[in-house]
Amino acid sequence: MLVVCNYKIKNMTLITSNINEAKELLDNEDVVAIPTETVYGLAGNIFSEKALKKIYALKSRPSYNPLIVHIKSISDLHLVACEIPDKALKLADAFWPGPLTLILKKQPTISDIVTAGKQTVAVRVPNHPIALELLKKLDYPVAAPSANPFTSISPTTAQHVFEFFNSELKLILDGGSCIKGVESTIVGFLDNEVILYRHGSTSIEAIEKVIGKVKIFINDDVAPDAPGMLKKHYSPKTPIIRTDSIEESIKLHSNKKIGLLLFNTENTDLNIECQEILSKDSDLEEAASNLFAALHRLDKCKLELIIAEKFPNKGQGKTINDRLSRATK
Ligand code: AMP
Ligand code: MG
Repeated sequence: MLVVCNYKIKNMTLITSNINEAKELLDNEDVVAIPTETVYGLAGNIFSEKALKKIYALKSRPSYNPLIVHIKSISDLHLVACEIPDKALKLADAFWPGPLTLILKKQPTISDIVTAGKQTVAVRVPNHPIALELLKKLDYPVAAPSANPFTSISPTTAQHVFEFFNSELKLILDGGSCIKGVESTIVGFLDNEVILYRHGSTSIEAIEKVIGKVKIFINDDVAPDAPGMLKKHYSPKTPIIRTDSIEESIKLHSNKKIGLLLFNTENTDLNIECQEILSKDSDLEEAASNLFAALHRLDKCKLELIIAEKFPNKGQGKTINDRLSRATK
């Protein structure tokens, strides 16, 4: 049982941990923000056209970019998907609740608005106590894309969500800072092969331990057949570049007000206005969990340029590099 905190009201948006208030709004086909272990999501009943359309409108999300469905447990999988391959069940058993999204053949009851007209649906069980308790109280799964406007930095706190949507949202369920801090990994299935569509907070290495080799297919097209993994995404408002040499990039841009996004070591250049170290212990999981919050802070420093370091290309380093390469497009 979760303790219900007093809620804060900011310009008519409730920021609260009162799950029943969120349920009431969702039951009335409204949209609320919910915490997950990855990032905050904008949740709506998957069977409500009104709620689904509101999600797209709030995010200014193009209608070709489908939503991820969140279910309370593997036992609800048959409500949204059919013809589930053995490898998908193995992965669900191994990683749910958790940050792994499966692309599966959709049930006919799942609307084209959820799937952007595709015959497949993206589905996962989130691993956050508040999200799970909410889902258990609902008679339907929720669609919950990240609670940020299209292409901007994903939110990892209730405050980030509030800053994006302000009074456009009636309620934000506050579940603290997201532990994983980057989105779920997305995989699909084709001819007995497992295909990676998006790097995320479940590492490829962990997935391969369960089902063997994964084929990597990251499609950058605008309206791809598989995930809507857009080239430009996760972007701060401040211009951002990635570099192999922080020192050289600082020299090259010495006339600008610069901020740095670094892996493990502080930079001693006195001209640097703001810097964010993602993990002093060189822990890539910790670095990933701090990535978006650090970008939000840098974006508030009134900088002319953010220079980001390239991260080691293994484990969560691959996910960080993926997000930063899209942020810099
Ligand atoms: P987000 O909105 O940040 O939660 O991202 C959701 C991701 O899931 C996007 O990259 C979508 O394109 C992807 N996705 C959702 N449904 C499908 C689907 N049926 N097939 C492929 N990708 C999907
Ligand atoms: Mg997103």
